[in-house]
Amino acid sequence: LRLLLFLAALWLLIIPARAQTAIDIEPTQVEYTVGGQIHFETRLPPEIPVREVWVFVHPLENPGTIAGQATLQPSNGITYTLNLAEHPIQVYSVVEFWYQITLEDGTIVETDPETFSYTDNRFDWQTLDEPPFEVFWYEGDTAFGQEILNAAREGMQKTMDFLPVPVPESVTIYVYASASELQTALRLSGQTGALIVGHASLELDSVLVTIPPGPAQTYETKRQVPHEIAHLLMYEWLGKNYYNLPQWLREGVPSISELFPNPDYVVLLNQAYADDALLPMTSLCENFPLDASNFLLAYAQSTSFTWFLYGQYGSSGLEALSRAYADGLGCDPGAEAALGRSLTELERDWRQVTFGENPFPAALKNLAPWLFLLAVVLLPSLLLIIGQRRSN
Ligand SMILES: [Zn+2]
Repeated sequence: LRLLLFLAALWLLIIPARAQTAIDIEPTQVEYTVGGQIHFETRLPPEIPVREVWVFVHPLENPGTIAGQATLQPSNGITYTLNLAEHPIQVYSVVEFWYQITLEDGTIVETDPETFSYTDNRFDWQTLDEPPFEVFWYEGDTAFGQEILNAAREGMQKTMDFLPVPVPESVTIYVYASASELQTALRLSGQTGALIVGHASLELDSVLVTIPPGPAQTYETKRQVPHEIAHLLMYEWLGKNYYNLPQWLREGVPSISELFPNPDYVVLLNQAYADDALLPMTSLCENFPLDASNFLLAYAQSTSFTWFLYGQYGSSGLEALSRAYADGLGCDPGAEAALGRSLTELERDWRQVTFGENPFPAALKNLAPWLFLLAVVLLPSLLLIIGQRRSN
């Protein structure tokens, strides 16, 4: 024990000694092109004898840290260039970085971390804020920015009608004028952007939407902004357990939070019902199908199904269901635990209410193989009983 105490004391002596060797470093100049390179430049006091310098770059909310050796310039200038094609960083991250300096005598000193915001600097952003929302856009006037803020606030109120989500501390909304510009931003930051027009970066409290100028602008604003905000609110409410929710519910609540219903959904649903092509709800628990037509149908069904659940079980039902799923219950057990009916039973109720379907033919169709099996099993004994009666 004594030895341990001695070692601990020694350790305590060493730590402050290391920390005290603080080096005055100039604030770093950071320049970058999104998806290209980040260039760091700073200077150490010229009298310090430096052997080598390493730079550590850590995007917050990201598990990894990138380490790279800096170049020493004459009179202790330091430069470091990070190649973002090799080490993509999610756009709109806050990035922390610090230096590890090895002096000529072998002493190692770490500097205090500095931070910068890694944003999409390809555009000349305008901004407007109304807490908790802050909006950035590059095409359109101030009235347009205000329209975005209004849709965000109204959408938040609507989501609060369905679930007890908290008011977030701050939410940043980035409005792109074209889907390809948003998709490029996602691609440049190492995320897949294909097919995406809206995106919620849950850990970064920010949403990205595509709202092109033109006649559909108001409609798209009232649809996309509340949808993406709802994703953030649900994440804010459930934390990482949000990812336990089946995808039909993760998309269902944001879709019913839209201030303008998508008219295509009704057409798609009725057509799919007529063609007997509705997707089983159990197939929408994990992931949505990736082919374009079924992808849209999956959204349409999730929206309609979630509306139905809200109509039948109210916000307390949606809350109980979300909590059961967040707790880790599967797609069927979660529904059973929260609403007392399996997902398949709920789906049958939904079809009945939505399409006026008579539940019996569908149920019989499902039961037909079992009825046949039952008949095959029971037939010999029935014949036996009849035979016995006759002989009696
Ligand atoms: Zn969504």
